[in-house]
Amino acid sequence: MSFKARYFSTGSFLTASLGSNPSYIWRSVYEAKELVRAGVRRLVGDGSNIGILSEPWLPDELHPYIESSHPSLLRNTVNALMKDGMVEWDEEVIKDVLSDSDQKLVWKVPLSNHSRRDSWYWMQDDSGLFTVKSMYSLLQAAKTSSNVPNNSRFWCQLWHLKLPPKVVNFLWRVSTNSLPTRFQLSTKNIPIDPRCPFCLVAPETALHVLVRCSFAQSYWSQSHVPSIAPGAMVFTSWFDGGLKAWNVAKSLEAAMILWSIWKHRNELVWNSNQQDSNEVLSVAKLNYVDWIDARNKLVVAAESCVVGGVDKWTAPDFLFVKVNVDGALFSSHGRYGVGLVARTVVGIVMAARTLCKEGDLQPHIVEAIGIKEALSWSKANGWTSVIVESDCLKVISDLQKPKYMVSPYGHILYDCRNFDF
Ligand SMILES: [Zn+2]
Repeated sequence: MSFKARYFSTGSFLTASLGSNPSYIWRSVYEAKELVRAGVRRLVGDGSNIGILSEPWLPDELHPYIESSHPSLLRNTVNALMKDGMVEWDEEVIKDVLSDSDQKLVWKVPLSNHSRRDSWYWMQDDSGLFTVKSMYSLLQAAKTSSNVPNNSRFWCQLWHLKLPPKVVNFLWRVSTNSLPTRFQLSTKNIPIDPRCPFCLVAPETALHVLVRCSFAQSYWSQSHVPSIAPGAMVFTSWFDGGLKAWNVAKSLEAAMILWSIWKHRNELVWNSNQQDSNEVLSVAKLNYVDWIDARNKLVVAAESCVVGGVDKWTAPDFLFVKVNVDGALFSSHGRYGVGLVARTVVGIVMAARTLCKEGDLQPHIVEAIGIKEALSWSKANGWTSVIVESDCLKVISDLQKPKYMVSPYGHILYDCRNFDF
């Protein structure tokens, strides 16, 4: 079924809401709506198909909608502001029903006797046609006006923390205002109680549920992380203040606690499962220790094949996606794991993935499996120019100097070398 039939059978793209069971794709399209809304305008022809109050037809970046509230404007179309049967503004009517500021904008709308059809145009470009370049400048403008930290120091500090990919991914989402808190969802017209599920008092913003809520505070007070930025109004400025004030150990602890609180919050919201407050801290610690442990085991076991491990992440060349592979061994459980993080040219994390499988394998085999996973994951995501990075030199040199190998390891390398994008 098309989007139009399913989601806005009676309206337009701009007036559609999310509905009760939105598909993933529609949700993504909906997310883009805010941006499109900022740049798209109604082009007035004879005005008979444009709602005076309901559509963005004024040629102004910030105020495309009529703000006057004269009762005659309700449910009327723009041609009601024109002279009877003509495509010409009726000055008398307009002065009667519109405020001064609305009038000024209406005078800027040129009318044409030649094209009487009402349509849409893209305001950011003189041609009225959508261009990628103009969308890009609109995006840049939106970026600087939001609260997303735009400075490289913040992101640099975040990327350099040695954290499990799932935690990095979580921090990236919360720092770019894309964590689906109840408050965040309610601002997108999703019918949901915006209150915090723990205290049921304040609206659930990221800053509230992760930091300010009395439940969150009970976790923080048991941690080693000193409280900071009491005046912060949004999560990112609080976290930015923290990254400046904390040392590496405290930043790591804070990151793990934030992730753990969100995990417990989801338990409560989705499974009505209220866990013990001590558990938040122990889950944070256990997850981190597990991950560090697995890393250390790998590094120790693979020491002979690591030369200058990839500690400093460097940005890939333009248009490339870089996937970092990190294998992990859980020998006591007879399992192994692979962590993948994909970053763009500017170092923004695009996606992260972990998988855990049965098998007590040697580290270089796990790493080779990780590289193969990274390739198929990239293909599934449609990334065709990919740099896969591993810190296991043995696998890399084996890959670069193909030699005949009849072994499971050799088979995996063969698959990587001959991977078909
Ligand atoms: Zn609360």
